[in-house]
Amino acid sequence: MENPWAVAQRQFDIAADALDLSAGLRATLRVPQRELTVNFPVKFNDGSIRVFTGYRVHHNSSRGPTKGGIRYHPDTNLDEVRALAMWMTWKCAVVNIPYGGAKGGVVCDPKQMTLGELERLTRRYTTEISILLGPEKDIPAPDVNTTPQVMAWIMDTFSMHRGYTVPAVVTGKPINIGGSRGRNEATARGTTIVIREAAQQIGMPLEGAKVAIQGYGNAGAIAAQLLDELGANVIAVSDSRGGIYSPGGLDPAAALRFKHETGTVVGFPEADQIDNQELLELPCDILVPAALENQITAANAGRVKARIVAEAANGPTTPEADDILYDRGIMVLPDILANAGGVTVSYFEWVQDLQDFFWTEREVNEKLERIMVASFEQVRAIAEEHKVHMRTAAYLLAVQRVAEATMTRGIYP
Ligand code: NAD
Repeated sequence: MENPWAVAQRQFDIAADALDLSAGLRATLRVPQRELTVNFPVKFNDGSIRVFTGYRVHHNSSRGPTKGGIRYHPDTNLDEVRALAMWMTWKCAVVNIPYGGAKGGVVCDPKQMTLGELERLTRRYTTEISILLGPEKDIPAPDVNTTPQVMAWIMDTFSMHRGYTVPAVVTGKPINIGGSRGRNEATARGTTIVIREAAQQIGMPLEGAKVAIQGYGNAGAIAAQLLDELGANVIAVSDSRGGIYSPGGLDPAAALRFKHETGTVVGFPEADQIDNQELLELPCDILVPAALENQITAANAGRVKARIVAEAANGPTTPEADDILYDRGIMVLPDILANAGGVTVSYFEWVQDLQDFFWTEREVNEKLERIMVASFEQVRAIAEEHKVHMRTAAYLLAVQRVAEATMTRGIYP
């Protein structure tokens, strides 16, 4: 298994070489600015006290306060959080929103915890990392296994310590406490917009295009429904327990209802059971990794059959696999572009919270559409001009913006 942090640094090195970054700037941007590890106790319902480890990493704050999700997963670790934080820096720069990159994680399995235990874990973790948080400092958001409810507990905990309500400290909140319309769908909507633009670019009709989606959570399940609405044919989806495949097409909404009822898509009627590796190699037009890192590697990239790979997940493709896919003429829409709809609408949420003035869903979606289309077009133009794949093009755009901000501000003191 590749270390995601090593992957993130290799991706950065490719861009730094191409941009001919100075040694000092390269060394500065290649490492996180600050990293906090916390170990904290949580009371469980059976009377026991268990100790958890959590992280919050700020990669770079040259372009603004840091922004990035919080992941609850048994396998998360400091290197994964570092990689995710660095990717956030580039992602915010690709879509040109005024944030730096951060990420957080807690090593835990929320599926084995009650709601009360999860709330106590969230409130204590928030307290432990609160020295880093604030609307003008660092603003968390949802990621794997963290929900709008978890964001509500983070907001409430931070606010209790301040003594007044601070909605802008976290995004992805429920709408009734200052969340933004359209935020829940934003990551998938952004992915869908860039898929639509890419399909048009390569002359592939979306109507009837076969889609396989790995991961059926916030990013994957909503992407399935939005692509279905555009006329695409979702033929396979999966979650951590495995996948389902129906060559004639699945009903994404029915698959989601089934997952809500049973906890997994596996067992969905009138579909064949497949595993997560098989899903990646299915005959399809569009492949959407929407789960975890390291899914498309040198080992399987030669067998991917899709024409477009749209990374709703962060870090699903290794640099070696990128080269293989590029040589095979497969267009990869890189994570820092393809899933940037989430952080873009998180930015809109923060702006609305700071102004106490809220937008309609239509306003949110129109602004998101403009940013995603413009960013896709900029990245595509750079890819064409420099004859590089879309990831390198996105990195060229992003790293250049962050490097310029760093140099304009100067190196303190
Ligand atoms: P989620 O918790 O809502 O869903 C994750 C899904 O992935 C679940 O269906 C889970 O069963 C599945 N999964 C977990 N391990 C798996 C495995 N080994 N194989 C296959 N499926 C597996 O999380 P999410 O928010 O949808 O995040 C998914 C990906 O999207 C992550 O890479 C995340 O960083 C990225 N992302 C999320 C957002 C966001 O706003 N939520 C924004 C940008 C990027």
